[in-house]
Amino acid sequence: MKKIVTIGEILVEIMAVDRGEGFTQPMSLVGPFPSGAPAIFIDQAARFGQPCGMVGCVGADHFGRVNLDRLKRDGVDISGIAVDSEYATGSAFVRYRHDGSRDFVFNIKHSASGRMSLTDNARALIDGSDHLHVMGTSLFSPRIVEVVLKAVGMIKAKGGTVSFDPNVRSEMLALPGLREALETILGQCDLFLPSGPELFLFAPGNSEVEAIGQILKKEIKAVVVKNGSQGANYHDLGSTIRQPAFNVHEVDPTGAGDCFGATFVSCWLRGMTPGDALRYAAASGARAVERQGPMEGVSTLAELDTFIADTSAPLI
Ligand code: ATP
Repeated sequence: MKKIVTIGEILVEIMAVDRGEGFTQPMSLVGPFPSGAPAIFIDQAARFGQPCGMVGCVGADHFGRVNLDRLKRDGVDISGIAVDSEYATGSAFVRYRHDGSRDFVFNIKHSASGRMSLTDNARALIDGSDHLHVMGTSLFSPRIVEVVLKAVGMIKAKGGTVSFDPNVRSEMLALPGLREALETILGQCDLFLPSGPELFLFAPGNSEVEAIGQILKKEIKAVVVKNGSQGANYHDLGSTIRQPAFNVHEVDPTGAGDCFGATFVSCWLRGMTPGDALRYAAASGARAVERQGPMEGVSTLAELDTFIADTSAPLI
């Protein structure tokens, strides 16, 4: 089976128990949960049964241990994750507002993740992998952009494939060089997995179909557009497939896109039809939102089969 590697930030998420605005008063918190978009992605790939590993960096502290223990337990090759003795593992404090939007306090850039590099172990892991998954959230500093672009170059040079989820937070778009980096990765990826609004960052158009038409003129083999509770659409040069969302009670949306992406990429690498891959991915995204905590809703293939069989009526 093909091996997936990802690269990027590893952090813990700590969540406010009660909904409300901001973090300016003492409040009850729950966590630490293992997190970081690429870490959630790769944990889901491992639980699905795909050989996989991660390149990153954590601090020599409890928050680093929370992540390393979890990823290792679920079957991720953690040989490419360095442990830095000077910098702490990153964190994200999250509070849901009453309208469902979120307030965040991030410490990523100045955490151990900001020290990530292509160590000998990281290079060996990439050399031994067939596919690299890149996330826009990981491009948080010019130095990390350079590291990620080198990893893309390495996997392409050995004939591997790349998937790309831009997953970019709006405040990141002002970072110098970020837009160019996103375009460079887009130009080298085989599989593109944007959310609906992100699609239009790369291909301005009046509709998804118009934007997709522009994207598919590049080297990209397929585009999967994620639209939250509205489902997801697959596009390649010959076909479009619409996958409605499964009907679930959403508790915490964090991680849905990462679980969806990991499941889709794993199925795609196994040579499943796009329709089957999309169905498994949508089931994975739906199960992810049912649990609190970014990585707590990851699923095995058997759990997805049961879920699909039991959840007979997807939302249209
Ligand atoms: P994030 O960056 O927050 O992880 P995203 O924008 O990349 O999210 P979403 O579109 O939110 O990704 O979710 C990915 C997929 O998961 C959706 O296309 C859908 O199939 C499934 N999904 C997400 N939210 C729900 C929901 N509330 N109910 C059912 N399925 C959902």
